[in-house]
Amino acid sequence: MKPSTDLDLNDALMARARRVIPGGVNSPVRAFRAVGGTPRFIARAQGAHMWDANGQRYIDYIGSWGPMILGHGHPAVLEAVRRAAAEGLSFGAPTEREIELAEEILSLVPSMDMVRLVSSGTEAGMSAIRLARGATGRSKIIKFEGCYHGHADALLVKAGSGLATFGNPTSAGVPAEVVQHTLVLEYNNLAQLEEAFALHGDDIAALIMEPIAGNMNFVRATVEFTRRCRELCTRHGALLIYDEVMTGCRVALGSAQSVYARHIPGFAPDLTVMGKVIGGGMPLAAFGGRRDVMEQLAPLGPVYQAGTLSGNPVATACGLATLREIRKPGFFDALAHQTRRLAEGLSAAAAAEGVPFSADCEGGMFGFFLLPELPRNYAQVMKSDGARFNQLFHGLLARGVYIAPALYEAGFVSGAHSDEDIDATLAAAREVFRSLSI
Ligand SMILES: *Cc1c(COP(=O)(O)O)cnc(C)c1O
Repeated sequence: MKPSTDLDLNDALMARARRVIPGGVNSPVRAFRAVGGTPRFIARAQGAHMWDANGQRYIDYIGSWGPMILGHGHPAVLEAVRRAAAEGLSFGAPTEREIELAEEILSLVPSMDMVRLVSSGTEAGMSAIRLARGATGRSKIIKFEGCYHGHADALLVKAGSGLATFGNPTSAGVPAEVVQHTLVLEYNNLAQLEEAFALHGDDIAALIMEPIAGNMNFVRATVEFTRRCRELCTRHGALLIYDEVMTGCRVALGSAQSVYARHIPGFAPDLTVMGKVIGGGMPLAAFGGRRDVMEQLAPLGPVYQAGTLSGNPVATACGLATLREIRKPGFFDALAHQTRRLAEGLSAAAAAEGVPFSADCEGGMFGFFLLPELPRNYAQVMKSDGARFNQLFHGLLARGVYIAPALYEAGFVSGAHSDEDIDATLAAAREVFRSLSI
């Protein structure tokens, strides 16, 4: 580790960044506001590791917040990107590679008959909602507290004072009128779900949910809750939208919906929103689903949606190379094995030091809480001990282990995380838990 008397280059960069970029960052959670301290400016990354401006190495459990499922600098991905870049950065005209990526996504997620490519998860989620409203001719949507669907106006909303009232904006700049059609419910709360559909069912265009919520750390929808969401949408003619921007091709090759389909025969959402892994680290996302619904999109139908860089040739090359690697036999089993080893190892390390702790994982995604039991909704997640989390975060960071700088974020393991990386992480965690328990 670098002597503390050195000029800290991260501090210097942050001071410079703050003068020209609001808060010094281009996405708020990068600013370390929740945990304090200076964000690390990343100079380069390879495999499971990143190096900051000081040359300090970290084992990376953020993976660009999910996309880097192969780790950084995978040779097949780099080669595909280099080749595509040499052929042209953007055309604004269709390319064969867009068809290839669409076919690849549809083969992995069979509930989708058709898919449209866009550039960010926010854009994909916003477009899926517009499509659902256009296809149903209805305005109201249901979302759940703690689920994030990007920063489109209508989705920056928290629960109102009761089920008869709709949501309140969570951001300045979002007029109350814009969220007046968004009903916010508690995740995994069956009684509330039933009541909301009884009150508003025939006005609801769509219910949008993260099937495994990764934006309140890691909270699974129960099988019963999932089944009821599907039944109530079907009964009332609302569309069920799965926001799999984080879970898509991450918790399983077939995404979270394939995990639920194991328990609920024939289970499928009407629309699915994808991003992160399907772009492999380039700006690429998608939304797709039932053919009759997707055919409502322009230029076939009346629902407008467009994008100058949609289906970008370099981004599609990156996504395609990534998906072709992760579907190779054994990739996902090995990824799930490493992730489980990490989650179980962390639990064991915490238990050995008497630190209240719970962890869960699926495929290459994990979450943990400084709580004795796994939470089932946002209110329970928020009972996690923030001060202790910050100690844990900084303890790990100082030992070269980089987890998400906020307790409501999930973690990610990549195919490049070796046994040695996991062992080093668990050794660091044991030291930190020991310091927490005194
Ligand atoms: C990351 C994320 C988004 C937003 O995607 P961006 O590419 O950041 O706009 C939407 N939904 C979920 C579930 C996400 O995790």
